[in-house]
Amino acid sequence: MANAPRDSLQMAYRLMRRRFGHQNWWPGETPFEVCVGAILTQNTNWGNVERAIQNLKREQLMDPRKLFALPESQLAELIRPAGYFNVKSRRLRSFLRVLVEEFDGSLDRMFQGETPAVRRRLLEIKGIGPETADSMLLYAGGHTSFVIDAYTRRIFQRHEWCGPEASYGELQSVCMAALDEKPSAERLDYWQDYHAQLVRVGKEFCRAGKPRCEHCPLKPLLPQACPETRPNSPSQVAAAS
Ligand code: SF4
Repeated sequence: MANAPRDSLQMAYRLMRRRFGHQNWWPGETPFEVCVGAILTQNTNWGNVERAIQNLKREQLMDPRKLFALPESQLAELIRPAGYFNVKSRRLRSFLRVLVEEFDGSLDRMFQGETPAVRRRLLEIKGIGPETADSMLLYAGGHTSFVIDAYTRRIFQRHEWCGPEASYGELQSVCMAALDEKPSAERLDYWQDYHAQLVRVGKEFCRAGKPRCEHCPLKPLLPQACPETRPNSPSQVAAAS
C-alpha cells in the first residue's frame, strides 16, 4: 500500500472545509435513527433511505421495541423504498434482536465500553459489516472509528494515497493514524465531518466515470494530472470507445 502522506490528508480536510463549511452530518434525529439509517443505506442512496425512515416515523415505529415487535413482512413493506427490502428487514431485525434482548433496548448500553470491543460486538451481528458498524460507532455511539466507503477508496486511489488492493482495515488505519492532530475532545467531530466532506467530494466531483478535477477542492493535492484524466487512462479509453 502506498503511503498516504499525513500532511496531505490533513490538508485535504482544510481544503474541503474551506469550500463546503462544516457538514453537520449524519442525517438522523436520534442515535437510533442513525443506526437504522446505517443499515438501510447499504447499496442505495440517502434519498431512498429517507423515504423508508419517513414510513417508519409515520407509523410511530422509530423505537427499538416497537420495531422489533413488527412482523418481518410488515417491516419489509415499510422499508421497501430503500431497496433490497427483504434482506434489509432481516438485517434490521438481527440488529434489533441484539439491541432488545441483550441490551434491554438501550443504545447507551450497547455502545458502552472500549471502541474495539463495541465494534466487535456490532460486527458479530449478521448483516453488519465494517462500514455499517463504523457509521453507527462514529455517528450514533460517540466512538472515534473512522468510516471508509466507496467514495473514500476512489478519492484515495486517484490521489495515489492507496493502491487498489488496500483493505478496509488498512485504509482505516492510515486515516486514523494520520488524522490525530486534534485533541481527543475534538476528534469525534473532526472525523465525523471528515467523512462527510469526502462523501460530498465523491458525489459532486470524484464520480466513478469522469472526475471533475478542475473544480474540485482537492485538485491541489493531485499527484500530477488526475490519473483518470491522463491520456490512455481507463476512463478516457472507455469514453472514446
Ligand atoms: S475529482 Fe479529481 S481532484 Fe477531486 S478528489 Fe477526485 S481525483 Fe481528486
